[in-house]
Amino acid sequence: MTLLDGNALAGRLAEVLGGDATDSPIRCRHCGEVGELGRVVVFATAMGLVARCRGCDGVLLTLIDADDGRSWFGMPGLSTLPLRGR
Ligand SMILES: [Zn+2]
Repeated sequence: MTLLDGNALAGRLAEVLGGDATDSPIRCRHCGEVGELGRVVVFATAMGLVARCRGCDGVLLTLIDADDGRSWFGMPGLSTLPLRGR
C-alpha cells in the first residue's frame, strides 16, 4: 500500500468520469470538514484507490479495479463531486 495525496486521483477520475476534480470543493459527510479533493489522503493498492478525510479518516471515495476490466466507483463520504473539463 502506498500513501499519496488527492492529486493521485486525477488521472483515474478523468478516465472514469471524464473530468478533473482535484481542485473541486468537497465536504466530508462524516465530520463536515471542507476542502479540495486534491488535499485528501489516498491509499493506493493493487486493487485501486481509497481516499480518506484528513479530519476524521472517514472513507470519502473509492475506485476499485476488478480483474474483469470493470471499475467500481463509490463516494461513501461525499454527496457531490464537481468536475471540470466536461
Ligand atoms: Zn471527515
